[in-house]
Amino acid sequence: MPKVHNWHLGREMAYPYAGGQTDRQFAAVFNINRCIGCQTCTMACKSTWTHAPGQELMWWNNVETKPYGGYPDHWDVQVLELLEKANPGKQVWDPKPTTERKGPYGRFEGKTVFEAADGETQQVLGYLPTEDAWKAPNAFEDHATARPAEGTSLPEHEGWFFYLQRICNHCTYPACLAACPRQAIYKRPEDGIVLLDQKRCRGYRKCVEACPYKKVMFRPTTGTSEKCIACYPRVEGHEPLTDGLPTETRCMSACVGKIRLQSLVKTEPDGTWTPDPTNPIYYMVHEEKVALPLYPQFGTQPNIYYIPPRWVPRAYLEQMFGPGVEHAIEAYMHPSRRLRALLQLFRASRTIAFNFEVIEGPKVADLTVDGRKVEIFDDTVVGYDAKGDEIVRVSVQEPIHERPTKLNSI
Ligand code: SF4
Ligand code: SF4
Ligand code: SF4
Repeated sequence: MPKVHNWHLGREMAYPYAGGQTDRQFAAVFNINRCIGCQTCTMACKSTWTHAPGQELMWWNNVETKPYGGYPDHWDVQVLELLEKANPGKQVWDPKPTTERKGPYGRFEGKTVFEAADGETQQVLGYLPTEDAWKAPNAFEDHATARPAEGTSLPEHEGWFFYLQRICNHCTYPACLAACPRQAIYKRPEDGIVLLDQKRCRGYRKCVEACPYKKVMFRPTTGTSEKCIACYPRVEGHEPLTDGLPTETRCMSACVGKIRLQSLVKTEPDGTWTPDPTNPIYYMVHEEKVALPLYPQFGTQPNIYYIPPRWVPRAYLEQMFGPGVEHAIEAYMHPSRRLRALLQLFRASRTIAFNFEVIEGPKVADLTVDGRKVEIFDDTVVGYDAKGDEIVRVSVQEPIHERPTKLNSI
């Protein structure tokens, strides 16, 4: 099997295809701390793409309550157990970073879903969920691990839950693509979006079995598999409201909690990201390391990144997001001036921001957070579209608008 570099793992990895190179890569940051579990994103996707017969159990975007919820049921526990069984006691990290771009989280010493497969009956270690497992996408909604007798406080709550927002990760090394015997799944070189060719698909469901995130679904009425398409017509600029410019996807632009920010990052031939600190996603992932990949140990190099929830036990989060958790929470709770301004850009524009800059403003407050003195500045973040034109500017301090004393006719 060819070797590819997986920078989430800080090492080379066996993968069935030598490819993986794209000019740009679809990527996003989801801030778990701000999600209110309203499912507006879920319904935005469903009402756009999966409302036809045979798609009733299909939720390309879903928001599940962790630790008990999952769509399909217990998908992540099942994959973790398969990997542990294949490589007992050795699914561990050496958390010492290798190089900034090629291994910022250290080195994963265990086996990925590609390396743990037997290579004969399976190209990718996985499992096929039962039909029942897809039927309750929001089971365990708002279920906490315990109800504390008294109040609870940071850094780790005694009883806890959090919402995990999930779409296809448009992985750099997609497991779905690796497993398809018909080569019906492909990754677009221009934006890294992973698509499934309905004409080539014969419904073998190898992709459903292989995707460790379980983001490919089978449609019984057509006998083929389907998956999130990253709203590619919008990313291509076909949304009439944004005048031909790349537009955020339906689930991103509908987000009520303003937890999602999407962009496209430039990539190198080895799958790493080209340094570009003015790209909002690059800046948060590589410069601040405030956002982390979901289950990087699976080995697909997923491209949706999460700011971890700050109240959850660290051991649970480290299993889910790798060794960068402590740093990411610290970076979020005590953000740099630049990061605090950038966090205002979430859901400020429907047009995709490719770059940003921060204009410094005056000091507006002295606060104490966690016993630490914090200075707040009214800085302004400016977002720029694919052509380099300004699309939005937002300041840290929300402007106050006074209502006129005389009410209008309504
Ligand atoms: S998340 Fe799953 S379906 Fe999406 S690209 Fe990765 S392996 Fe394929
Ligand atoms: S990116 Fe588009 S297709 Fe994918 S989950 Fe979001 S709304 Fe659905
Ligand atoms: S719309 Fe936003 S806030 Fe609401 S559930 Fe989805 S990700 Fe969370």
